[in-house]
Amino acid sequence: MTRSTYRFVDMTIGPDPHGAPYAVRATCTACGERSPQPESDQGPTGQHSQAQRWCRTHAAIDHPGGRHLHYTANVTFGWLITPAEDIGPTADERAWSHP
Ligand SMILES: [Zn+2]
Repeated sequence: MTRSTYRFVDMTIGPDPHGAPYAVRATCTACGERSPQPESDQGPTGQHSQAQRWCRTHAAIDHPGGRHLHYTANVTFGWLITPAEDIGPTADERAWSHP
């Protein structure tokens, strides 16, 4: 049996400047169609409004006779953990971590 010593290290979490940018998209649960990728210069409020406008258009104009009334909102953005002291090398990042 191997013995290890553990200790607590303070860490902070905040936006990752190199991570995924803030993005709001909606997905129709009836057909899987997604709202367009928002422009990177749009703020969170503008992105939410744009995704909600797309939902209304999708329900009322694209499928007026159908029942495309349920949507899932997806909000993505990167977070970065910063340890207060060196805790060793970082893990290899996979390609899917930065869409
Ligand atoms: Zn749909």
